[in-house]
Amino acid sequence: MMKHILLPAFIFLSSISAFSQASAEQNFDIVILHGRVMDPESGLDALRNVGINGHRIAAITQDGIRGRKTIEARGLVVAPGFIDLHSHGQDAENYRYKATDGVTTALELEIGVGDIDRWYGERQGKALINYGATIGHVPTRMRLMGDSGTFLPHDKAATTVATPEQIAEMKRDLEHGLARGALGVGFGIGYVPAATRWEIIQMFGAAAEYHAPAFVHLRGGNDPDSPMASLEEAIAAAEVTGAPLHVVHISSTGLRSTPLMLASIEGARKHGLDVTTECYPYTAAMTDLGSALFAPGWQQGMGITYHDLQWVATGERLTPETFEKYRKQGGLVIIHAIPPDIALLAVSSPLTMIASDGLIVNGKGHPRGAGTYARVLGYYVREQHALSLMDALRKMTLMPAQRLEARAPMMKNKGRVQVGADADLTLFDPQRVIDKATYEKVSYSEGIEYVLVGGVPVVSASKLVEGVTPGEAIRTPIQ
Ligand SMILES: [Zn+2]
Repeated sequence: MMKHILLPAFIFLSSISAFSQASAEQNFDIVILHGRVMDPESGLDALRNVGINGHRIAAITQDGIRGRKTIEARGLVVAPGFIDLHSHGQDAENYRYKATDGVTTALELEIGVGDIDRWYGERQGKALINYGATIGHVPTRMRLMGDSGTFLPHDKAATTVATPEQIAEMKRDLEHGLARGALGVGFGIGYVPAATRWEIIQMFGAAAEYHAPAFVHLRGGNDPDSPMASLEEAIAAAEVTGAPLHVVHISSTGLRSTPLMLASIEGARKHGLDVTTECYPYTAAMTDLGSALFAPGWQQGMGITYHDLQWVATGERLTPETFEKYRKQGGLVIIHAIPPDIALLAVSSPLTMIASDGLIVNGKGHPRGAGTYARVLGYYVREQHALSLMDALRKMTLMPAQRLEARAPMMKNKGRVQVGADADLTLFDPQRVIDKATYEKVSYSEGIEYVLVGGVPVVSASKLVEGVTPGEAIRTPIQ
């Protein structure tokens, strides 16, 4: 790491008058002064000045530096931009909520998309923050089976057992997506319960052929042992095929089984299996009420009743009557099902990354789509002392970058505050940072003061910057 900028060379080579000129010269495009730079990889946690040229970090130094633009960061933490591995909201509205929560890269890896070229093409040159996606088993199955749902299956993709020919066709579709640069294969097994274990192994096989991770929402089930059985299915598929495995939102899938699942993942890792996981910092989940997660028996499976369901469109709690009515039409529902001690245990576990599972539609949705990162920093780090600030940042930056590095080498330049790394940076006030979004009203987080994407400010003095689109595609190079 370059600790000093080129100033000493100027002194050596030049006369005193040349040096005065040089020191007055603006060596950088942007300088961030007097911030507390925190880099989870090197462990650096110290006051430094950061110089940025173009889209890269060019200097991290204790020396005085000057740039065409200066950001005064006294009292602020200068962290790598947050990387959200689980972000369903992939439009301009959601990118604004992400940016104001400190996220510089938002990826749709769980459900994924059905057409990789089209999806990346639609965002090229238009995005506020970096974006990327997996090729998804769920959308592929919905297309093949002719499901009537839009985002998640409502009927045929959930209920039809695939023929061997259909399994082969889905596998070819996933392989095509991977060949076109998808970041991995996305799975929502719980949404397609008719998919057999053999079908899942075949789809993992597509991922394995491209050395790509499988990002998995586990199979559901209403038996108390279902979360563990579902985890074992995914671990077995990873072992059978060799595909790396990432288990999404462990606490909302695991509920009271979460500690057992974390222990199992730890054991698998100890024995050499590439398994990772993530969680979001909330005590409620959210999904489509029309989906297979609400097939009969859901109350036992989730340990909840109608009143624990909250209809996103109106904020109302459901009754048996409104449940039936809204289930027929489908739509987003918040599920108050995660015990607070389980949410805390998941956030503080060294195994988990932080990922939002966020989706905001016309200003409505689960608060996780707007407040996940500020909530970890403000509520779990500052107020609850559940984990250290550096550990929290590692879960939001370095760990998600490392999860993707083998498949997307460009991630080696993200998740770090180091010379040569991409200038994706989040500057926040550790004393003030907090989420403001609630289950009734989605709002921007507070205390996230500057966010840079590839050296371009997208949040400045706590305000969104209008008219900038520095977001780039996070995509596997196409051979
Ligand atoms: Zn999910």
